[in-house]
Amino acid sequence: MKIEFGGFRASVVRASLALSLLALGASQLFTDTVATRTRSVTRLADGIYVIRHPDAPDTFPQGNTTVIIGEREVLVIDSCYLPSSAREDIAQIRQWTTKPVRYLVNTHWHYDHTMGNGVYAEAFPALSIIAQAETRKQIEGYNPGWFARFPRRAEVFRQRLESGKDANGRALTETEKREFEKAIAGIAPVQAEFKSLVDRYPNVTFDREMAVNLGDREVRIKHLGRGNTAGDTIVYLPKEKILVAGDLLDHPVPYLGGGYPSELVRTLKEMAAIDAQTFVPGHGEVLRDGYARAYLNQVIEFIQLVVAEVSRQIYLIGNGPRNLEAVREAVMKQVDFNAWRQKFAGDDEENRAFFDGFSLPGVITAAYAEAWGR
Ligand SMILES: [Zn+2]
Repeated sequence: MKIEFGGFRASVVRASLALSLLALGASQLFTDTVATRTRSVTRLADGIYVIRHPDAPDTFPQGNTTVIIGEREVLVIDSCYLPSSAREDIAQIRQWTTKPVRYLVNTHWHYDHTMGNGVYAEAFPALSIIAQAETRKQIEGYNPGWFARFPRRAEVFRQRLESGKDANGRALTETEKREFEKAIAGIAPVQAEFKSLVDRYPNVTFDREMAVNLGDREVRIKHLGRGNTAGDTIVYLPKEKILVAGDLLDHPVPYLGGGYPSELVRTLKEMAAIDAQTFVPGHGEVLRDGYARAYLNQVIEFIQLVVAEVSRQIYLIGNGPRNLEAVREAVMKQVDFNAWRQKFAGDDEENRAFFDGFSLPGVITAAYAEAWGR
């Protein structure tokens, strides 16, 4: 089974999503979607900002960037995807402060969080890029090849349009077809941006934990365990009770395209034990207080349920390369995913397509792969 980003992004924000999230006991009204159309900045505290980026023209998502201004220097978390967006962020940082960006943390290797590394390194020559040791290896391994593989993306999108089906054989809706067309048209400008990009890898690595003291601000950088990737990192500010989660937590629909679901449950429980009030997800709006806790618990519960059901079906059906489809079908029959889709995606067509086309097959496949070797 293939899972891919993009091509299923469309439609507008709908108020009904906010209503469905209110049922969670939300303390704030959300109209969040997996697609991001506009750039926005959220101020979390004095000198702490989160920048949310619009999706790339080819519909590829861009991760959030968090900026922490210290006494003498600035620490940035994640460099997003498009070099042009990273440049815009740097221009914005320079409006906020004359202090240089001294540290850039990569929460994990994915392109949508790291492709701007080179732009930061160019703008701030004394920059240290910090990552968990495994993440550094993955960035060095995966990122340079990304540009060369880019033309494949257009080809895959064209095949989908011609066949009228997604990677899992499901018929595309009219909206999805339009989105594929839009994504194909957006590939050339993105490709042009990456032509002059210089890859930059983390040059400071840690295993479990490190701290950066920004003078008046203590920044704890932690690997709580594997989850979304092998080297997921969170950044925690104990005084401000802010936790930057990377893609361990995404809103409103989790990004579960791979990784280690059963370990992710453990890692998210570790995260839930940290005394934070504000959670910055890898994608989506900043989450606060009771709503953040309720949402985090909902994600944990969902993954736990899928892992348990995949396990149970493996005992009944078997594992190995031939049984994935049978296990997937059985899991889909056993669990009421309509209710879960409603909880995460509400009535928003795009959120629902993301849940069905990416998160759900992703977590089932990853849970299957994780159980494969038992
Ligand atoms: Zn991401």
